[in-house]
Amino acid sequence: MHFRVGILGATGAVGQRFIQLLEDHPWFTVTALAASERSAGRTYGEVANWMGRTPLPARIAAMTVSECTPDLPCDFVFSGLDAAVAGEIEPAFARAGYPVISNARNFRMAPDVPLLIPEVNPGHTALIDRQDWGQHAGRGRGFIVTNPNCATVGLVMALKPLHDAFGVEAVMVTTLQALSGAGYPGVPSLDILGNVIPHIGGEEDKLETEPNKLLGQLGSEGVAFAGIALSASVNRVAVVDGHLESVAVRLNGAPSPEEVTHVLRDWRAPAAVAGLPSSPERPLVVFDEPAFPQPARHVDLGAGMTASIGKVRACPVMGIKFNVLSHNTIRGAAGGAVLNAELLASEGRIATRV
Ligand code: NAP
Repeated sequence: MHFRVGILGATGAVGQRFIQLLEDHPWFTVTALAASERSAGRTYGEVANWMGRTPLPARIAAMTVSECTPDLPCDFVFSGLDAAVAGEIEPAFARAGYPVISNARNFRMAPDVPLLIPEVNPGHTALIDRQDWGQHAGRGRGFIVTNPNCATVGLVMALKPLHDAFGVEAVMVTTLQALSGAGYPGVPSLDILGNVIPHIGGEEDKLETEPNKLLGQLGSEGVAFAGIALSASVNRVAVVDGHLESVAVRLNGAPSPEEVTHVLRDWRAPAAVAGLPSSPERPLVVFDEPAFPQPARHVDLGAGMTASIGKVRACPVMGIKFNVLSHNTIRGAAGGAVLNAELLASEGRIATRV
């Protein structure tokens, strides 16, 4: 299996993560890089303010950045586009017959667009069959698939095994979110150093809606939402990578912390997902140490694809509470999107464009 890949928004924080993650990918090779007209026409090495901890690959540095017009030399595109432009550019690519695997928020809640975490709701890829962007003989079939908000991912990976085992009735979540979640240059240093900002525009709404689509059941009418009552409070903190979340849940049957820990520890990806190249050996790790997980120490577990949980304990108000940590630009963005594309490719939903 081999496909040529384009990256829309290649110069941004998420775009750079795509380049890192795809450098040695067994199925996907980057053949096109696109960004705004500010960057187009120049080499990637000139325009990208490379933030990776490994050097920018020379092959990528030498590539010329294109505008985001749907004529790129690739079989499908990943989108790390700013939401202000994704709403127009992503459909243009879908209409031109490109599969679009997006990180942007624009189409996450559209009824025919899968909002996907492969370990959680792999069957939702069938929603693609309901999308109609027009047929393109010999050019494949265009569609849009999205991954959730970077703070939603860790929360839902923790809720999924609990919802299956007990049924989740209600959730209260308070987040401590990393700076890289705001892109580059993101939050001004004088606003965040020695400070916490208790507001991230639109984020609480995403945390209160996306989990019900992800945990919903796909039927003949589309996804029937899960109906969990969610309340979110978000904070931006001076951490580089990794969103830590304090979660309190009300579960059916009031299970004990030991039962909940057992269910979380036993959770595994479905077989079709476990074998994919970017699938971590363990999607969830549960710590016994009460001060774990911590962003600086555990964000890179499973190459940034494992969510980690700690301090599972009784909550006098909701029943159970715990902390969960996940990597916001890997599991919460580029890595999650690469895993989505691997699932779609393994299902035969991505084709070579001629
Ligand atoms: P970012 O660093 O600000 O990058 C934005 C990208 O969009 C850049 O490549 C930029 O190109 C491009 N762009 C801006 N205006 C454009 C235009 N008019 N036409 C074409 N391209 C344009 O943002 P980010 O953090 O990487 O986030 C990208 C997307 O992923 C956003 O929708 C964000 O909400 C989502 N997301 C981010 C995270 C995270 O943790 N950072 C997690 C999940 C989802 P230029 O360099 O040429 O301006």
